[in-house]
Amino acid sequence: MGASPRRRPMLVEGAILDIEGARPAYVQFRAGRIVATGAIGTDGTRGRGTRIRGIVIPSPVNSHTHLGDAVSVREPPSMPVRQLVAAPRGYKFRLLAESSESAKRQAIRAALDRMTREGVAAVIDFREEGRAGVDLFRAASRGVALETFLFGRPVARPIDPGELARVLVASDGIGLSSARDESEETRRTIARACRRAGKRYALHASEAVREPPERYLDPRPDLVVHLAKATHDDLVAVREARVSVVVCPRSNALFGRQPNLAAMERVGLAMMLGTDNAMFHAPSIWRELEFAYVGTRLRHRPVSAAYLARAAFVEPWKWLGRAEAARIAPGSPARPLVLRLPPDDPAYQVVTRVAEHLIVRLRPPAPDPGGGRR
Ligand SMILES: [Zn+2]
Repeated sequence: MGASPRRRPMLVEGAILDIEGARPAYVQFRAGRIVATGAIGTDGTRGRGTRIRGIVIPSPVNSHTHLGDAVSVREPPSMPVRQLVAAPRGYKFRLLAESSESAKRQAIRAALDRMTREGVAAVIDFREEGRAGVDLFRAASRGVALETFLFGRPVARPIDPGELARVLVASDGIGLSSARDESEETRRTIARACRRAGKRYALHASEAVREPPERYLDPRPDLVVHLAKATHDDLVAVREARVSVVVCPRSNALFGRQPNLAAMERVGLAMMLGTDNAMFHAPSIWRELEFAYVGTRLRHRPVSAAYLARAAFVEPWKWLGRAEAARIAPGSPARPLVLRLPPDDPAYQVVTRVAEHLIVRLRPPAPDPGGGRR
């Protein structure tokens, strides 16, 4: 291999937006890694290498998907969302059952490849269809350049301990439909098994109708998805329980709903962002960000761009126990993303304007001797 132009230093002058917030800065790269950051004009490159004006952020995480759904991309038939996605006989589950393994595998792979091209570093997926569904996702994601965190779901009710153990051993946790779709006994059995296995327990909550928080917060989950119908007091209860929430504003909007992101920000919830069912929406975190931001303006309940940016690339890394991956600094485990965007008002730029062609392709860093990919 000859000398690559990327071996020369690359200097991004503009802004950093990360776990510490936004600030004017330069970031110097060599071979895809950050070697220096500092105040603009103080870099030591003396004009050598490539110079770019832009914004550097940690790579985002798509914190809630159902990528198996990507086998169908048609406009959803008009029926209540519950009938669309209800297990085991709703529209979505019939589609999953009627689709071949290879069609589902290819659809998941295509969705993961799209996310990779869009700079996403990790995805948290809910996979239905029991252990077979988990195995199918693992096969589809083999060798992809993003990390996958997979929440499986046992099929048998009442819970078959053998099946639950088989799903858990192959997944990162269990993701349930909702508290109102499952008995208290099922939820307790699953939460207990997740704790014991050192895995995580998550569920959808207050999506189409309000559910009382005591029902979805006990047993305590690691994550709740939606809260589109939660009241202010419900949000306070979630915060007090120290439970993180994933919101999916496009998915909710398709069925006429909107989570109150401004209230979540005021209450101080740890909020993450996901694109939900891949049958209804492309798994693009950038589209989700823009819609989340603009959507709140329609109801005159604006959320801040800074809070949304954190939901895409700070809170998920904290939730995964890897806050350092949300820090742009030399030696940080972050996978930095360089965006060719004006560095004025970085959070607003990132939340409203990112598209694939604005992402600067860095040389992939050499493998980290300490860390393997999951
Ligand atoms: Zn979901």
